[in-house]
Amino acid sequence: APERAAPAVKTTCPYCGVGCGVLATPDGQGGVAIAGDPEHPSNFGRLCSKGSALGETVDLQDRLLTPMLDGQAVSWEGALGAVAGGLKKIAEKHGPDSIAFYLSGQLLTEDYYVANKLAKGFLGTPHVDTNSRLCMSSAVAAHRRAFGADTVPGCYEDLDEADLIVLVGSNAAWCHPILFRRMIDARTARGTKIVTVDPRRTQTGEEADLHLGLKPGSDTALFSGLLTHLADAAKLDRCFIDEHTAGFDGALERARQIAPTVAATARATGLAEAEVQAFFDLFAETPRVVTAFSQGANQSAQGTDKGNAIINCHLATGRIGRPGMGPLSLTGQPNAMGGREVGGLANMLAAHMHFAPEEVDRVRRFWNAPNIITGEGMKAVALFEAIEKGKIKALWVIGTNPIVSMPRADRIREALAGLDLYVVSEAVATSDSARVRGRKTVLLPALAWGEKDGTVTNSERRISRQRAFLRAPGQARADWAILCDVARRLGHGAAFAYPNAAAIFREHAALSAFENDGTRDFDLGGLAEIGERAYDAHLPMQWPVPKRGPEARKGRPRLFADGRFYTFDQRARFVAVQPPALAQAVTEAHPLVLNTGRIRDHWHTMTRTGKSQRLSAHRAVPFVEIHPDDAARHRIADGGFARVTTELGSAILEVMVTDGIRPGSIFAPMHWSDMTSSNGRAAALARGIPDPVSGQPELKATPAAIEAV
Ligand code: SF4
Repeated sequence: APERAAPAVKTTCPYCGVGCGVLATPDGQGGVAIAGDPEHPSNFGRLCSKGSALGETVDLQDRLLTPMLDGQAVSWEGALGAVAGGLKKIAEKHGPDSIAFYLSGQLLTEDYYVANKLAKGFLGTPHVDTNSRLCMSSAVAAHRRAFGADTVPGCYEDLDEADLIVLVGSNAAWCHPILFRRMIDARTARGTKIVTVDPRRTQTGEEADLHLGLKPGSDTALFSGLLTHLADAAKLDRCFIDEHTAGFDGALERARQIAPTVAATARATGLAEAEVQAFFDLFAETPRVVTAFSQGANQSAQGTDKGNAIINCHLATGRIGRPGMGPLSLTGQPNAMGGREVGGLANMLAAHMHFAPEEVDRVRRFWNAPNIITGEGMKAVALFEAIEKGKIKALWVIGTNPIVSMPRADRIREALAGLDLYVVSEAVATSDSARVRGRKTVLLPALAWGEKDGTVTNSERRISRQRAFLRAPGQARADWAILCDVARRLGHGAAFAYPNAAAIFREHAALSAFENDGTRDFDLGGLAEIGERAYDAHLPMQWPVPKRGPEARKGRPRLFADGRFYTFDQRARFVAVQPPALAQAVTEAHPLVLNTGRIRDHWHTMTRTGKSQRLSAHRAVPFVEIHPDDAARHRIADGGFARVTTELGSAILEVMVTDGIRPGSIFAPMHWSDMTSSNGRAAALARGIPDPVSGQPELKATPAAIEAV
């Protein structure tokens, strides 16, 4: 029966980490009119091209609407029985750590929480990781090294109040567009200067006051040079360093070794001395600086050091936790932060707790968990390698498409076929990852945006509601409900008897506050008793939201203003970073550096944005950017097609000749898959050597060759 037209529902955009508020007005026929929510403090009514086109993506074409077992439609009873029975058998035969989960920053916090609890507390496998590993796990690791916790110090308001915004590895104009508009507004209102640090001169670089097109991977040299310069120019905040930090001397000594002078910094980064000097002077002379960093810094085999090299400069000048100042990690996905909060990364347990014995014991008691894990699991790259080696026998993928987004994806596709049990919770029947077959394969139809109900956390720690405004189609169900049904079949029903998403959120909030005397950053104690109505009406709010004190029930925009951090002595840590070096050097056979990234109008593997003709028109086919000198050398013409080859395979891409890219580098977007373009995949060409600290794979610098076709 047709739905009745209804009033606008306040919800949150499902794409990037800006987390814009959306007003969705169902038309009663399954469609919806979309507008920005003028009351949402992250976007104040604005939406970018992707958000504005959400109404064009809610049709049911290609949706997975029925559970499937080995290619045949089955009842939920049959599918859940196959999943629970398969997991039980595999755990008994090979041990619970032969089971793995691969989750997603697209999941709602409630889904994420239940998956993590089931795996780490009840099944007893530590091998739970998420596609957020590919997104910002290096920022997480940098925060933990510097602050003692994965705490984002500042907020979007800081961009409004900054006099200098430094964007590192971020094409914010395309990838965080509404936030970038805010930066441009700040420039109009107060003359804020914008500096971009990126080997590519993207749209963001075009609009910047200063663009630093540095050599791939040389970010730590630039920020080491800056730290040296700040010391030599007597621009340090000695009081802050002495009273609130540790490790400064070691970090400065290392910075001097890496980049002792402006000239040495210029050599190490491939920049002109005048550019380096201009940046250093701007940073040194401008108290209100925000340095926002994103995938260009994170998706690197040295991503954690890049984050810490940036944070070092903010700590050295005491520019943190105050209006208009601080490092700001821009997360890619709508709920990358929520995943971090519940412990969706393999190196976390839950509620920002890790694996100290007292933390494990605390979570065990809170969950009453019979099989709590006691140590870290495998991070994404290692996890998929373990599947290749046959060590993982069962994999449950929820809300992500690793066959397109993971490095070495072709090898992964082959490896999945060897799984004894491959479970995919998906909204899209035709996604590449839903089309792979293990020895036994179960597809579970999941609710999509507009149908599901829960919370997400954006880049500034702001928790917003995603609300349902469309009827659940076919037999699709909420991810948390599917997980709970499996838990019940495994004999853990009592711990997973949630009547609704609000009950899960309450438990998640209560865990964050459980035995939390203020020494843990993530605290939602003020929301631990939230009722259904209050949850439904929940306003966007930045954690921490403790039960008592000035932030009770309203949250806190900034942390560390008091100079107290989450280390045991409450001092922040400087980090002596390693000299920059690419994990894989170019060779004669592969003389170019392949960088992968995103474009303005598509989101990840295009399973949603690909439905919109308007969005697809912006860039209709997968392409490669190449510098005119390299194009001439390789006899490649603009508008023609070229084969890009790495040690892992090749892709055929349309050629875009541009001087926005450095000589010696090429760029290809990561969105296209075998489903959307034959031979157009780019991420699959990367080996993805992981950062030794964060485990985040290198996706920005893969040796590659190019030839015309
Ligand atoms: Fe906002 Fe990002 Fe959605 Fe665009 S994609 S509307 S910037 S949340």
